[in-house]
Amino acid sequence: MRYGFGVDIFGTEIKMGFFSESGELIEKWKIVTPLMQDGNRILPAIADDIERYMKEHHLYEDQIIGVGVGIPGPVNGSGVVNKCVNFGWGVFNIDRALAGLTGLNVKSSNIANLAGLGECWKGSGTDNMIFVAMNTGLGGAVVCDGAVVYGVNGGAGELGHMIINKEETEACTCGRKGCVEQYCSPVGIARMARRKLAATATPSVLRGSRRIFDFHEVVRAANNGDRLAVDVMNQVYDCAGHFLSNVCCVTNPDTVVLGGEFVRMGQPTLDGIAKAFHRYIFHANQNVRFQFAKLGTDACIYGAFKMVLDEFG
Ligand SMILES: [Zn+2]
Repeated sequence: MRYGFGVDIFGTEIKMGFFSESGELIEKWKIVTPLMQDGNRILPAIADDIERYMKEHHLYEDQIIGVGVGIPGPVNGSGVVNKCVNFGWGVFNIDRALAGLTGLNVKSSNIANLAGLGECWKGSGTDNMIFVAMNTGLGGAVVCDGAVVYGVNGGAGELGHMIINKEETEACTCGRKGCVEQYCSPVGIARMARRKLAATATPSVLRGSRRIFDFHEVVRAANNGDRLAVDVMNQVYDCAGHFLSNVCCVTNPDTVVLGGEFVRMGQPTLDGIAKAFHRYIFHANQNVRFQFAKLGTDACIYGAFKMVLDEFG
């Protein structure tokens, strides 16, 4: 039996998964992301942890298919990271660097693309799906005819930065204005609620709140029938449905899989987005189904291992 590792470097923690060749997740654990020294300690920490695990379980190099790595930034097909601002990384070949430290095969990609691959393989996905996940921002993956679309620089599936509002006056994290992430993200939802509170006199449990509420409060208020919060969430669903109807015109998928915070937001969110989607639908996409991601936060390590299995297995 051969094995492999799936790694998800997602911020303050690194999730590690150990898989069998058949795709069974044997064990998963987390290590703290060492963010000091411009992120230069991250790869050695992963390599040390893999070495420790292999020693403890009496595993030899020839039993390991490889290490798949998800990072929160674009990676091209050769393993070149093109800046990962969260870690202070510049441009370098992560596959080569981690292979040098571990002596194992390494392949990396963007976390959202890998989460989509994981869902396609072991979760709720199909061979033709759009995966869209709300985390800090809005990420995604396009799976077409059974393969994730990575693009020339690994930047395919950056769905959150599709511009849907040319009238927007505030800037997105990418520097442009009107990206869907400015509305369909935790920060975006809270921002829209604050805007609506300022622009209307609609009574709301959110009004008069001295603290700066987070988006969970808006979602909770909407689920409790708060009129202003319901209006805000309807706007969120409309933005999501609108942009997803455009995305579906590109690949004509059978399923849209909602991941990340969307899962926690629950059925009203799925129903709301699906309803909005149908307001903008192109007829070829009228049978698109909406469902929640099944692998939760493990989707990326599944996808990371699957990528290595496809490449080196
Ligand atoms: Zn943007």
